[in-house]
Amino acid sequence: MDKFSINLKKINTTTILFFSLVVIFIFLVSLCISTFNFNKTKTPENISRNQEKTQEPITTESSVKGASTEAAKPIVTQTQVFRTALSGNEVKVPVLYYHYIGNNPDPKDTQRDALSVNPEQFAEQMKYLKDNGFTTISYDTLYAALKKQTVLPTKPIILTFDDAYIDFYYNAYNILRQYGLSATVFVPTGLIGNPAYLTWPMIQEMHSSGLVSFEAHSVHHYHLASLAPDVVLQELQQSKKDLQDHLGINVNFMAYPYGETSPSVVSLVQKAGYIGAIGTWSNKIQSEGTIYNSPRLRISGSINIASFASLLQ
Ligand SMILES: [Zn+2]
Repeated sequence: MDKFSINLKKINTTTILFFSLVVIFIFLVSLCISTFNFNKTKTPENISRNQEKTQEPITTESSVKGASTEAAKPIVTQTQVFRTALSGNEVKVPVLYYHYIGNNPDPKDTQRDALSVNPEQFAEQMKYLKDNGFTTISYDTLYAALKKQTVLPTKPIILTFDDAYIDFYYNAYNILRQYGLSATVFVPTGLIGNPAYLTWPMIQEMHSSGLVSFEAHSVHHYHLASLAPDVVLQELQQSKKDLQDHLGINVNFMAYPYGETSPSVVSLVQKAGYIGAIGTWSNKIQSEGTIYNSPRLRISGSINIASFASLLQ
């Protein structure tokens, strides 16, 4: 072997060694990247974001069994950054939620249309509940049932009204009295007395009747999940105090304005002394695991009595 051949062999060996090291390096780098991505997609935040894109609002379930299936992936109807799953003791209690019980004074206001049920329609729905053996209960009773401290009546149901609009007093309250059905109103206490909202004397009168429970709905109806913690706590504590001062009772529950909450808001709700909180995602099953973000069924103005009946099946 001459000197040139020896040099050529040396070069070939060096080249092979160099390329082998490059291949090993690329392999190790790609392994690191894929491991990093895998771990990243497994964080709860990413799981939640992925679900956010694929889930569609659902307003009806065909059966209790169907509702239980939904338990694994609760559906939200509004912008939300936090979901809870059904767990622990559970009971089937549909909770209906309304806003305005009155005709929309401005037909161009389509948003108001979606939030309004007219009094005739509402009376028809209440008659359906009465004729079909439903029994209205309060959140205190639901809570006691989840804690196994009481037994629920057959076909229990909760009727809720958000925002304390004045038409609740003039329209809904009379119809509820006619059928002997009870209700829960969520009150943004800072808006009370403004035009279109209930007044404190109206709230006190309805509270004294024993037919209507009043629970908190913040002070100013802000988007709580996007506020600083000290402001959220103030909203939660002040609204609870306002109601307690006017009604002389403990206020144990609150409903999130816009149904929006987050783990941080939930911990502030607990800190403010509430034993439960109410969201707007759709399900008929109530559970211990969802006590701080319990589901409800939205009743819109466009629903007919057949759809209303099938919603409660
Ligand atoms: Zn509201």
